[in-house]
Amino acid sequence: MSNTTADMTLLQVAVAAPVPELFLYLPPVAASPPAQPGCRVLVPFGRGQRVGLLVARITAASVRLPAAPLKPIAAVLDAIPLLGPAELAFVRWAGDYYRCPPGEALFTALPARLRRPTAVLARDVLTDAPTRPGAPGAARPLNAEQQAAVTAVSAQAGFGCFLLDGVTGSGKTEVYLHLIELALARGRQVLILVPEIGLTPQLAERIGARIIAPLAVSHSGLGPRARELAWHQAASGQARLLLGTRSAVFTPLPDLGLVIVDEEHDTSLKQQEGFRYSARDLAVRRAQLAACPALLGSATPALESLHNARRGRYRHLHLPRRAGTAVAPRILLADIRAQPLESGLSHALLTRIEAAIAAGDQALLFLNRRGFSPVLTCHDCGWISECPHCDARMTLHRDHGQLRCHHCGASRPLPVQCPYCESPDLRPLGQGTERVEDSLRQRFPGIPLARIDRDSTRRRGELARLLAAARRGDYPLLLGTQMLAKGHHLPGVTLVGIMDLDHGLYGSDFRAAERMAQVLIQVAGRAGRAERPGTVLVQTRHPGHPLLRNLLSAGYGAFAAAALAERAEAHLPPFSHQALLRADSPQEQAALAWLRQARELATELLANAPLPGVELWGPAPSNMERRADRYRAQLLLQAPRRGLLQGLLDRLLPALRTGKAPRHLRWGIDVDPQEML
Ligand code: ADP
Ligand code: ZN
Ligand code: ZN
Repeated sequence: MSNTTADMTLLQVAVAAPVPELFLYLPPVAASPPAQPGCRVLVPFGRGQRVGLLVARITAASVRLPAAPLKPIAAVLDAIPLLGPAELAFVRWAGDYYRCPPGEALFTALPARLRRPTAVLARDVLTDAPTRPGAPGAARPLNAEQQAAVTAVSAQAGFGCFLLDGVTGSGKTEVYLHLIELALARGRQVLILVPEIGLTPQLAERIGARIIAPLAVSHSGLGPRARELAWHQAASGQARLLLGTRSAVFTPLPDLGLVIVDEEHDTSLKQQEGFRYSARDLAVRRAQLAACPALLGSATPALESLHNARRGRYRHLHLPRRAGTAVAPRILLADIRAQPLESGLSHALLTRIEAAIAAGDQALLFLNRRGFSPVLTCHDCGWISECPHCDARMTLHRDHGQLRCHHCGASRPLPVQCPYCESPDLRPLGQGTERVEDSLRQRFPGIPLARIDRDSTRRRGELARLLAAARRGDYPLLLGTQMLAKGHHLPGVTLVGIMDLDHGLYGSDFRAAERMAQVLIQVAGRAGRAERPGTVLVQTRHPGHPLLRNLLSAGYGAFAAAALAERAEAHLPPFSHQALLRADSPQEQAALAWLRQARELATELLANAPLPGVELWGPAPSNMERRADRYRAQLLLQAPRRGLLQGLLDRLLPALRTGKAPRHLRWGIDVDPQEML
């Protein structure tokens, strides 16, 4: 029974809950000024109250009303909208594209503090003024390729997307700086996205050394107040530059005039849970809506981006040489088959480390595995440290005296004897960064060493501190995971040792080779970025592998061309588009069974109204089927064009939502998935 009349104003609200619909409410009983779209509201929902975002004011005549009488909004939380019409439209578009419920999408876009019914931090008395850098340094003269890139982007009137494909150390950042200056001079704001927190201080410092303009920084390493302040500073236009990790893509920027995505190939730009958006792809969309250029930079562009460049959707800009006097590092393979290894370090690598230290240079060792060893085993009976909750092994963390599962977070004290046969002869198998650190400290006593991984950088500020010290050259020995390898400028490093990348050569994910090549080139790129030339030593048991040989002899561009040809042949992305329907359940087989039904449903829908070229693959159990006591499986949907894939999702998802799922089963959709799990 409706309690409304046709000319009444109703409020359409996205509630912060995982429900696909928007809800209608009556205006608040005690309406002071009318609530504006983009303001948060408190609404009755179920038996309690929820925070929601007012999406639109509409007249009752324009919608179909629900049967139940409408309730009034309980309270309006903001006097001034948090999101303007353009930002609302952008986030809603993103939610629709990635199939995320509107309330979840909108509240992911807001700073965490504002997801609760808290008052906004006073915006006109911003206590922390955005960083106002000191005396600017002089701009460097650009080389011809850099200048051509700057000219192309700055000449762009309106939207255009550019791929800045420049080898490591080719001066991409220098190009960004010039373009930032030009955009600021035109009175525009600039959004700069980086994939990792660790990359923000270095870039903020370089920007600060050159550009006089208020800069706001936003990333998950900051506290909730600092993040909200950065948000207000950007939204009010006080900050002219916003530098941040992926969620910064949603920050309102009223004068946006340039969008930069650094290390655009990096998968950290894709959110892997909840609202599974790609910050890179959304950044391009954002630029399109703001009618301004977008610049994607990388030394190892994603195959998607290269494909977009080839078919003319992006302009391809090249920086083929290292800037200044630095030359490309020499990359050598070290065949470690049948070689004695010291905690995974070959004799060849140790000799070079010794030489680098003796020459007063820095050596950087890369091993993408933290902890002491990935497995603990019993020498007598063969017991191995399996996680009780996952199809995975528990990693030995000697620093903490624990076995830890990197997949579910479970931990337990280090056993002193085998839990199975009680033998005291337990041995670590394989190595992680802790073990290599140990070994290097023994081998090079007294030489300062910094280990940079998630465990060694837990304290707030520790990563920035270690990286700054590494840049200054305080540590002749640097050892770390990808945290250390990504995009950092470490001028003293002349030797890079890559301990193990072989798993990338035979990975089950079709992107494994692309990822391996990107990591190798990126890590290698840390070597010889200043006056002294660099050497990279890659340890491998597959020195003859064609991918590796092609990559080393012909470079990433040639590698990518070959990989793209393979993808085209196999109709894999970027030559097709995918969405992954994932499900998990505490009951074995339940997720798989539900996905089989989903597949039947999809088949039926396709039979009724065919979508040419749409394919269904699976369902199949995930690679690691059991994780945190849940059994996981996935069904892959693939289509030759985005529109067809979205067409299938339009029909399939509502049907799945109304259908019955077994208790405790969770499911979700990942559009443009970056990882098959
Ligand atoms: P990238 O971002 O491509 O890795 P950077 O912008 O960090 O490269 O540049 C690498 C190094 O080269 C830096 O030390 C930078 O100051 C220097 N550099 C960049 N452009 C020039 C140039 N035109 N002339 C001289 N040195 C340059
Ligand atoms: Zn045993
Ligand atoms: Zn586990």
